[in-house]
Amino acid sequence: MSFQRRSFRGPNGSSKQFINRGRSSFPRRTGNRIRYMSIDPQMLVKKAEPQIKRDYIARHTFADFGLHSIIEKNIAAKGYSAPSPIQDQVIHKLLAGQDVIGLASTGTGKTAAFLLPIIQKIITDSSQKAIIITPTRELALQIMDEGRAFARGTRCYFSLVIGGVPIFRQVRELRRDPQIVVGTPGRIKDLVERKALFLNQYKTIVLDEVDRMLDMGFIHDISYIISLLPHQRHSLFFSATMTPKAKIVAERFLNNPTTVEVASQKASTNVDQDIVRVAGQNKVDLLHDLLIKPGFDKVLVFGRTKHGMERLYKQLRDRGFETATIHGNKSQSQRQRALDAFKKNRIRILLATDVASRGIDIDNVSHVINFELPETYEDYIHRIGRTGRADKTGVALTFID
Ligand code: AMP
Repeated sequence: MSFQRRSFRGPNGSSKQFINRGRSSFPRRTGNRIRYMSIDPQMLVKKAEPQIKRDYIARHTFADFGLHSIIEKNIAAKGYSAPSPIQDQVIHKLLAGQDVIGLASTGTGKTAAFLLPIIQKIITDSSQKAIIITPTRELALQIMDEGRAFARGTRCYFSLVIGGVPIFRQVRELRRDPQIVVGTPGRIKDLVERKALFLNQYKTIVLDEVDRMLDMGFIHDISYIISLLPHQRHSLFFSATMTPKAKIVAERFLNNPTTVEVASQKASTNVDQDIVRVAGQNKVDLLHDLLIKPGFDKVLVFGRTKHGMERLYKQLRDRGFETATIHGNKSQSQRQRALDAFKKNRIRILLATDVASRGIDIDNVSHVINFELPETYEDYIHRIGRTGRADKTGVALTFID
């Protein structure tokens, strides 16, 4: 039952003898059918390459962009010394009014890449309004928090329109005419239908994490939203990858865009990845053994289903671990409380499903443990991107049956 790290740790390939040669199968639900997908376990073993992240030499400084001095001050207050690659390549294009496709995942600094030009535009012309559409409530909240920090001391106001919280308060807030609305597709559509939100007033539109929105089944909501946008608009499209479905949305949404791509799997270069062979052992016992090891200071455990994660939560609690879960059955405030407790180190273990975890920005996660495999390799990359941030090396461990 013991977890012998050295026995299956090693640089690419060196641990082959311990890895199931065959592919690991797991079910995937599509509509009413379950389809079987596979991930080659060898893809889940990889040494971190932290130097890649530091190799980038920005062509611009923040001062080169000619941003308003208040924004510059707020950037400095956030502690950003140089633009990240996506910021370096995108900000001046957006300031020049170009439509942009940014192929960048969470962890690359994409949020500031679109927020800074939007805030600059609004400071310059207070009649401008922007709407930012994201797949999850947590991501929307994070974008708004970051936006407020960059806009501190300006007259640029934000409003959050997400599901899981009473709509009437959002209706009231929208009446106060905020310049920047951040929200999720379903709630935006609801507010449009209630005539509380008029999309034709928004000349700048960001679709963020488009691939994920499409994965989550928002295609109809997105099409509906695009159909109501003004023809003369500034369109910004961010996605970790350009899937065929995302391409269709991009073609409809953007006008003569330039594409900027930063290594979308970059986050994972900072992460030591390895597998843990379950081989008939009790998975909760294995997890328990890991969680009591030194160095497992801030651990994010991923599973596939809400029910599975609830069950695991109870099992860990019964074993004396303090933990919390975030998944789709939790209310917005429950999710937020759990995240805050984890962020502020009141609990050191957080259990999450893929949907609930998307885009979450938490510092210093020491380990990501994939208690169950995700549906796709891309989801895996997103999961492990929660660790190994800000030039720190993280560890991702994946349980393989
Ligand atoms: P994002 O990809 O937008 O979710 O950003 C990931 C993390 O990087 C967030 O914690 C940001 O605050 C941080 N970040 C973004 N841009 C910079 C920068 N230029 N310098 C340092 N940290 C940054």
